[in-house]
Amino acid sequence: MEHMSPGEFRKWGHAVVDWIAVYQQRVEKLPVLSRAKPGEIRASLPPVPPQTGESFEHILADIDRLILPGITHWQSPNFFAFFPSNNSGPSILGDLLSSGLGIQGMLWATSPACTELETHVLDWVVDMLGLPQGFKSAGQGGGVIQDSASSAALCALLAARERATGFQTNERGCDGRLIAYTSTQTHSSVEKAVKIAGLGRNQLRSIEVDDRYAMRADALARQIALDRAAGLQPCFIAATVATTSSNAIDPLPEIGAIARKEGIWLHVDGAMGGTAALCPEFRWIHEGLELADSYCFNPHKWMFTNFDCDCFYVADRAALIKALSILPEYLKNQATESGAVIDYRDWQIPLGRRFRALKLWFVIRHYGVEGLCKHIRRHIELAQQFAVWVRQSSEFELMAPAPLNLVCFAHRDGDEFNRRLLDRINSTGDLYLTHTLLSGRVVLRLCVGQTQTELRHVENAWRQIREAATAIRA
Ligand code: PLP
Repeated sequence: MEHMSPGEFRKWGHAVVDWIAVYQQRVEKLPVLSRAKPGEIRASLPPVPPQTGESFEHILADIDRLILPGITHWQSPNFFAFFPSNNSGPSILGDLLSSGLGIQGMLWATSPACTELETHVLDWVVDMLGLPQGFKSAGQGGGVIQDSASSAALCALLAARERATGFQTNERGCDGRLIAYTSTQTHSSVEKAVKIAGLGRNQLRSIEVDDRYAMRADALARQIALDRAAGLQPCFIAATVATTSSNAIDPLPEIGAIARKEGIWLHVDGAMGGTAALCPEFRWIHEGLELADSYCFNPHKWMFTNFDCDCFYVADRAALIKALSILPEYLKNQATESGAVIDYRDWQIPLGRRFRALKLWFVIRHYGVEGLCKHIRRHIELAQQFAVWVRQSSEFELMAPAPLNLVCFAHRDGDEFNRRLLDRINSTGDLYLTHTLLSGRVVLRLCVGQTQTELRHVENAWRQIREAATAIRA
């Protein structure tokens, strides 16, 4: 088969966009959670690759036939599981253009627009979310798009590790005395980052939380004092704005004050919840963020920008760059040597990078700040409405405060009942919820954030949850 000609590309490109538009219309009717059994999708695929090329018509038809049965529909308005991964037309089109341009943005010189648009849009986002001005590129800080909050945490930890050791760990290997701090509710990505950064799990402290599942600053301070007394070297604290399990907001002013006093790097993970700060009435979640050394949130979760797009900010870019920079001969160029440009390869783990800023730029320009605010506010209203129904119900109870778009609740009949309830709800295909454990109890989570989710979907979810509970009890 020859290369696809521009004319053929146009024809099949239109067909693919048509397919996506139809999918957007019909996704609501598809069973949210894939019903595929392990191995079923593979078994339907040919055992060997085609020796000669196939028609694109045939390839596209196989999406419906072979792939859709194995898809869990994250874009369904009835998807209330884990966290949203919402996308939008402008974001998909931005990503398509990025693929079409097919550039590598590792250095400013390898495509100046890729770097400069990214720097510019990330400065915009500082103002859009009311983040500390110190995260802007005009001063000592700056923002970069990472693939994920996990990578952001790892980069922050590596910079923290280097800063704490006078940039010597990169030279001599990791010091067994370095200590990192999270809460019992911190996302597992931080533990993974700790292991990758060579600290070892015994150098990670899991600080207890209060009755709202937020990190206890007094317990943090106590643990740091104990570690110092034992001759250890605290180097990194990860706080969270809206934890994965329950949307708990760690007390940044208190944690930040400890970090400053002790000279410890503070990273704040706002993966999903950070987006709420688009709305001025929710900016309180970031109170104290000016005390942080780094921060991230994921437009690929809750800002209509398809995966991957994590906005990662540092207050002092020099520490990050010094930690991650190596300049081999083959990457040397005049622009880098002039010192006048940003080379984002020094701000991340891989060398290569896609033009991800395009989709974020498209999203912001399509919706405008007011449009984004309107949709986020609406999601929070819907979650709050659901929380009211739970509170008013005699059968169900709220299991944690619900400050934003996530409601943690449980049926009063106990853990085993709640597990059965979840299985029953999800087996219908009509909606998809997931669970967590809070204080050792099984808790159902309803997270509102899909692009197309409206009141009727949340009403339907509440009705189905109650009907499933009644059916189990009957
Ligand atoms: N941090 C928090 C608070 C999260 O909820 C999640 C995902 O659930 C992550 C980090 C990991 O996100 P990513 O997939 O972008 O690494």
